[in-house]
Amino acid sequence: RGLLFNDFSPFFITFFSYLGIKTIVSDETNRKIINRGLEIVPAEYCFPIKVAYGHVDNLLKKDVDYIFIPHIANTGEPTRGYKYCVTCLWTQSTPDLMKSAPKLVKEGLNLKNLLSPSLFFDWGLNHIEDQMKKTVAKMGYSTKNVRAALQEGLVNKKKFDKKIEEKTKEAFNSIQEKCKKNEPTFLVMARPYTAYDANVNNDIVNKILDAGYLAIPLEFAPIGSIDISKQMPKMYWIEGQKKLAAIELLNANKNLFGIDITYFACGPDAQINQQMRCRTQKPFLTVEMDEHTGDAGIDTRLQAFFNTVKSYLGIEAKQISKVFNVKLKGLDKIKGKKILFIPPMSKHNHALSAVFNAYKIQSRVLEVSPDETMERARSCTCGLVCTPYLHTTEAMLNFIQKPGFDQEKFAFFQAATDCGPCRLGQYASLESLLFQKKGIDVDIITGGELDSEFNLGMSLLVKVWYGITAVDQLEKMRMHTRPYEVNKGTS
Ligand code: SF4
Repeated sequence: RGLLFNDFSPFFITFFSYLGIKTIVSDETNRKIINRGLEIVPAEYCFPIKVAYGHVDNLLKKDVDYIFIPHIANTGEPTRGYKYCVTCLWTQSTPDLMKSAPKLVKEGLNLKNLLSPSLFFDWGLNHIEDQMKKTVAKMGYSTKNVRAALQEGLVNKKKFDKKIEEKTKEAFNSIQEKCKKNEPTFLVMARPYTAYDANVNNDIVNKILDAGYLAIPLEFAPIGSIDISKQMPKMYWIEGQKKLAAIELLNANKNLFGIDITYFACGPDAQINQQMRCRTQKPFLTVEMDEHTGDAGIDTRLQAFFNTVKSYLGIEAKQISKVFNVKLKGLDKIKGKKILFIPPMSKHNHALSAVFNAYKIQSRVLEVSPDETMERARSCTCGLVCTPYLHTTEAMLNFIQKPGFDQEKFAFFQAATDCGPCRLGQYASLESLLFQKKGIDVDIITGGELDSEFNLGMSLLVKVWYGITAVDQLEKMRMHTRPYEVNKGTS
């Protein structure tokens, strides 16, 4: 019952039943499962991942023959104007995380009983069929009816989605009713594996209901048609897309307020939450949880937020906070006009800079900021963003405060992918938003797919690749000679 179970169980349980394979699910999350997860987890992951360890342990104790944990890289065809809808890195790699836990291996998890096909739901049914055939064959069943079973699973998933759509309409009507009475409604912005699991979300939904308010989960929010891919173009995580669309819904509905649930050490949310804050125009609550979060803390925060919302509605406050859009540009926009500075991520950036110069794009590598505490970057960043993000942003801010800095003459390069799933692909977006908030109007140049406006060009990329491998070789030679003295006996 962990992670993507709520999204995909209508599909997979139907699939296995059609083939005559009995499915058993782990127990509902309880204190025992949580505690076992905490005992088993071999590294500091987020709370939902820790709970997932407990669920796998629970299944092993049920003496099952196989444990099915697919690698789910994305959730299907992208919507809302985006080209990708990927899941978080840890969700994608859950089977590997489980395999790497010695305590689960001791309990009996092994390569024979773990079924973990790699599924890209946007690659079409043939790909899913191919992967599921291998899974079914591994269990010793005939693969003849796999296609039909998948189709049956899809029909059931569509029925499930249809029910959610109906609920969405009900939810929207409720919001309108509350609006007429000037009463608040709260949108619980949480992923399905946390929103519907009271033991993972500290029962926050019931706390809102007990206080006499209506709480609507993100799945039931009418956000399907909200397209903000132009304003926030590089958001590849499906849950990030939903949360950003939900912010637009909050802004458009006076009586609807967001309660965002996030978890300590959640990589995507460290980026998504800050992007949400650059777009929200009304009071908004973020609750960060982990296994140490207690009821009292949640109650206090909720009560304070309810009071804020009441005053907000009481005085009919008008929002004036500025909304920011991510502004990124392709290389062609600055070629021959500006000097491009590349943050000091690694020595390979010197190769990248050399290639840019060869292509008549004036370029330099930024110097590392002398401030090891990275105070400038930290002062405009909240949440647990990763250190390379702080390091590169700090180098940019250090350069900006120098006397000769001129935004008409200089631009920054920040690498970004279109499909994630790592946080690196969000650096450029977040830097763009934060610089705008600080009143710095500097161009951020980024890369992207060949058919996108951020396309760097195949020939340039090939040269960059040569440069990167050359730097690798030089680095290898340096490591080879470094342990030895230049002049014997002088060190
Ligand atoms: S999205 Fe965040 S909370 Fe969910 S599994 Fe990934 S890191 Fe954990």
